[in-house]
Amino acid sequence: MGVAERINQIKNELPANVRLLAVSKFQSESVIMEAYRVGQRIYGENRVQELLPKYEHLPKDIEWHFIGHLQENKVKYIAPFIHTIQSIDRLKLAEKVNKEAAKCKREIRVLLQIHIAQEEQKFGFSYNEIEELLKNKAFDTMSNLVVSGLMGMATFTDNQARIRDEFHQLHLFFNKIKNDYFAKNDSFNELSIGMSDDYIIAVKEGSTMIRIGSKLFGPR
Ligand SMILES: *Cc1c(COP(=O)(O)O)cnc(C)c1O
Repeated sequence: MGVAERINQIKNELPANVRLLAVSKFQSESVIMEAYRVGQRIYGENRVQELLPKYEHLPKDIEWHFIGHLQENKVKYIAPFIHTIQSIDRLKLAEKVNKEAAKCKREIRVLLQIHIAQEEQKFGFSYNEIEELLKNKAFDTMSNLVVSGLMGMATFTDNQARIRDEFHQLHLFFNKIKNDYFAKNDSFNELSIGMSDDYIIAVKEGSTMIRIGSKLFGPR
């Protein structure tokens, strides 16, 4: 089965309110074009130096999402075109994205990355830190950011119950944040959870966007 068939297969399984982000890191432009030709328009990359040439060469109606750790000094390169930055994991980065978006006279959609997994190496805010961030007055003045939801990864484990529990907690937290801070704001509506090995659980637990790499494109 090729990339096109795998895209169609996954899409056919998804409820109407869940979108597919194809994680194209390490994939060639020609492979991305195979997915593009069957209608796939949302792609995720995690390195600026890899994203820039892909953005240049590939069709301009692609919606590029940044999903990796982002250094502040690289924000300026992607600010002119990036659709969504899913990996906002510190206040300083939010400030920088806001500033660069303002320079480009545009708004950038962002998701707050939340740390739910137990591994120490993963980036992201804790539940408490997200609430502190949203209460911070500095955050209110970032008018070129559209805070659109949360992104998270479950612990890398075979324990399905544990993954389900982590996604469930994240969904409850998402609902609480939406209710407490974004009740009058329709743009806070994205819960980006689910990867190749756990997206079926994530969809059951309220995902609105799954981020799939190896299951579409094969091992990296
Ligand atoms: C690589 C990556 C994915 C995709 O992982 P797969 O297991 O290949 O589907 C999803 N989200 C993030 C943040 C990633 O870095």
